[in-house]
Amino acid sequence: MHVAIYPGSFDPIHNGHVDIAQRAAGLFDQLVLAVYDTPSKKLLFDTAQRLALARAAVGTIDNVRVISYRGLTVDCARELGAQAIVRGLRATSDYEYESQLALTNKALAPEIDVVCLITSLQYAYLSSSILKEVAMLGGDISAWVPPAVQGALQNRFQS
Ligand code: ADP
Repeated sequence: MHVAIYPGSFDPIHNGHVDIAQRAAGLFDQLVLAVYDTPSKKLLFDTAQRLALARAAVGTIDNVRVISYRGLTVDCARELGAQAIVRGLRATSDYEYESQLALTNKALAPEIDVVCLITSLQYAYLSSSILKEVAMLGGDISAWVPPAVQGALQNRFQS
């Protein structure tokens, strides 16, 4: 069975992430979307909220499971029996960081490969940070996020 892990902060998950999850789910027998518990960036949503929003967004895809994890991504991948780590690539600006990360993970776990999927054109400009800024300023984000995420962002910025 071919298993892949799709790790990230998902703070919050958006349609660009969902698109990558759907496409990766078509390539592997099982995809585990893994919400990273403790990224170095400042978070808007805690782990339980990011997990719940990710489940609402991709939970209906048959072969996708959503978990949270802490520690090294490669350790989580090994525990899951995953052969691949999936990442999304938006623009050349992502490439430098993603290639550094991929080579680091390869050095830590040579048996696990990193599979990068190029973002679909309509989500190429989308990032969680810009999304949060637009939501904070009251802009329309409905085209970029699943309904549960739209509701969560609206609640957060109303309060
Ligand atoms: P991280 O904090 O690990 O960079 P993110 O939650 O920001 O995690 O993103 C998780 C993965 O999704 C990364 O591989 C990232 O490049 C990818 N990604 C981010 N935005 C998009 C997008 N608009 N379309 C497709 N993939 C994306």
